[in-house]
Amino acid sequence: MPDYRGLDFLLLDELFTEEQRMARDTVREFVSKEFLPRLQAHVRQDGSFPMELVPQLAELGLFGTNLHGYGCAGLDNVAYGLVMQELERGDSGLRSFASVQGSLVMYPIHAYGSEEQKERWLPELAAGRAIGCFGLTEPDFGSHASGMLTRAERKGDGWLLNGTKRWITNGTLADVAVVWARTEDGIRGFLVERGMPGFEARDIKGKFSLRASVTSELFLQDVEVPEANRLPDAAGMKGPLSCLTQARYGISWGALGAAMACYDEVLEYSRDRIVQGGPLAGKQLTQAKLVHMLNEITKGQLLAYRVAQLKDEGKLHHTMVSMAKRNNVDIALDVARVARDLLGANGIVDDYQAMRHMVNLETVRTYEGTHDVHTLILGEHITGHRAI
Ligand SMILES: Cc1cc2nc3c(=O)[nH]c(=O)nc-3n(C[C@H](O)[C@H](O)[C@H](O)COP(=O)(O)OP(=O)(O)OC[C@H]3O[C@@H](n4cnc5c(N)ncnc54)[C@H](O)[C@@H]3O)c2cc1C
Repeated sequence: MPDYRGLDFLLLDELFTEEQRMARDTVREFVSKEFLPRLQAHVRQDGSFPMELVPQLAELGLFGTNLHGYGCAGLDNVAYGLVMQELERGDSGLRSFASVQGSLVMYPIHAYGSEEQKERWLPELAAGRAIGCFGLTEPDFGSHASGMLTRAERKGDGWLLNGTKRWITNGTLADVAVVWARTEDGIRGFLVERGMPGFEARDIKGKFSLRASVTSELFLQDVEVPEANRLPDAAGMKGPLSCLTQARYGISWGALGAAMACYDEVLEYSRDRIVQGGPLAGKQLTQAKLVHMLNEITKGQLLAYRVAQLKDEGKLHHTMVSMAKRNNVDIALDVARVARDLLGANGIVDDYQAMRHMVNLETVRTYEGTHDVHTLILGEHITGHRAI
């Protein structure tokens, strides 16, 4: 794969601090040198992630990058966004691994956990010595997870958990699962540990999308969980939804990385590919497609950057993240599809990236709030009417 050049049409680099640029460039190099050479084998083998890279990912501070203390890197949200962008430039599965670990497992422990839970889990998760997963979705409740059937009932000093969670990233890899369950006081979060009797995880196979990522089903049958494993400060759907806002924020940057990879690849290809006596890049139709990509990616970068500033200033509203996730995943998927088209037949083999990013982005469009769900969130926000 030729050197990757990135895309910075409006010189956003000038707005980034040295620390932010360094974080981005370090991850960019890691992805080029360490991750991409290993990726093809994992994509061809559905549901496998290069676990040997976990210590390096941890060393680079990629687990809980924007969290403070407990061994976390404590970077600002622009740097965190740039890191997510670079990871997804590699593959959505790589960014998903870091998003789940940081935003969906470490964040809830950091925000809602007891001091004992924080001290026990956060340094281990930051160092990659422990892996986590986030169990919210169920076979019958995805977009409307508040209807969940998983139950936690009081038993003595602790809890008894029963239910099934499906489509759980890293489920079979996880040492700890953040499981959301219904109690008589509403939704609560629990840290369910690997090996607890009655707790089992199994992988889902046959995926066309996010193949270099482990996706699992979690089964909980009369799992006894001590009160010490309940997240004491999480109450109601606000708990899981606030985690999703963190992850969706990272996705809004990550999707740009996938789009930038496709643009970079196809721009180079179109210069070299000769059709009808001249380079593909010299055709009017091709230029219209490339300019459309450039335009949409650049607008997406501005959106992500402004949302990052607002997040760092403490002014972020979750609807802003909905707009960024919705737009940037949508344009990334569009860019990947057009890039695949421009690559012609070459675009359907895994020597080229566009189709892999394209099918990955189909998942990214669905998870962390589908495109439609974010439309409904924004629609309700601006009209005051919850659509039915
Ligand atoms: C690879 C992968 C990894 C995942 N990882 C995790 C994870 O780690 N943890 C986790 O908890 N979950 C995870 N998920 C689950 C993901 O969050 C859900 O798939 C997502 O929330 C959508 O739910 P669903 O699949 O049940 O679709 P549904 O909710 O059934 O939606 C189906 C369709 O209906 C549309 N729709 C929904 N509601 C409305 C409405 N009110 N009006 C009109 N249209 C509507 C949707 O937009 C969609 O087009 C993962 C999913 C995938 C594919």
